[in-house]
Amino acid sequence: MQIVVVDSSRVVLQIIASLIEPRGHAVHAFTDSAQALEYLAATPSVRVLITSVEVRPLCGLELCWSARLLAEERRPLHVITMSSARNVRSLAEALDSGADDFIEKPPSAEELNARLRAAERLITLQEELIRLAETDPLTGVYNRRAFFDRARLAAEQGGRPGGISAILADIDHFKRINDEHGHDVGDVAIKAVAELIAGDGIGGRLGGEEFGIVLPGCSLDEATARAERLREGIQALRIRGSRHAIGFTCSFGVSTWIEADDVNALLKRADLALYAAKSGGRNRVVPYQNDVTLAVAS
Ligand code: GH3
Ligand code: MG
Ligand code: MG
Repeated sequence: MQIVVVDSSRVVLQIIASLIEPRGHAVHAFTDSAQALEYLAATPSVRVLITSVEVRPLCGLELCWSARLLAEERRPLHVITMSSARNVRSLAEALDSGADDFIEKPPSAEELNARLRAAERLITLQEELIRLAETDPLTGVYNRRAFFDRARLAAEQGGRPGGISAILADIDHFKRINDEHGHDVGDVAIKAVAELIAGDGIGGRLGGEEFGIVLPGCSLDEATARAERLREGIQALRIRGSRHAIGFTCSFGVSTWIEADDVNALLKRADLALYAAKSGGRNRVVPYQNDVTLAVAS
């Protein structure tokens, strides 16, 4: 596991690293708690924070609290505080500040590694729960909620005109596939589309046979070209039907970030464009333009 260790003494840091590194853990040691927090925020792969209570400029309890806030973004992070003063009050304070565990300083190799094994069991479970909560069980791509969460995160970083675009895709006449070949074949079609969209940006299944893709760093033209490649890819697919191999198509709506935009509005415009693609005859890509609604009406 990636482990951040914080203590004001370099000697203590070295001792702790020498206790846990031989068990295969990677230790990132800090004497400055603010730098440790910065590193934690920038390094999502860190799974454990071990901090002394007596550190600066943030005290260990403040560091615990800030680390806990980071971990609320659905990231497993096990926090262990260390103190040479083991008493009920400091133990309770540490746990109330968001720590998961408390050890005396200096810890013994046996105790520290046993506690890390316990932490690893919890983290593995938490990672699995997060994966299940974010994944669409049929296709393995993000489910609707996780897709919107990831899209919002991407928008926080790249949400400016030209900085982010979106594609919505919907299988054409999907009811017919279900009706003529059965629900299982319908499921195979959904999985085949998911596999294709999974390679592009942030892809999710928004429901039924509808998919969303958010493309950071993509203009409207680039996103439209990607949608066109996906459309061709899906048109070329063949899946096993009830009697023979069958093909199917998808329609696409594409939109791009505008001034003062948000993810809901971005996807709403992609949805209007998708609606225009359906009304225009299906198996096509329509980029959102201001007059896209006129195209629908005509
Ligand atoms: P259009 O070209 O206008 O999109 O037509 P469509 O037949 O695809 O229309 P619609 O979106 O109304 O049909 C969606 C169907 O998808 C209805 C529902 O029974 C089916 N469906 C929803 N979820 C699943 C699923 O997980 N598996 C299967 N096989 N079918 C599903
Ligand atoms: Mg459909
Ligand atoms: Mg649909």
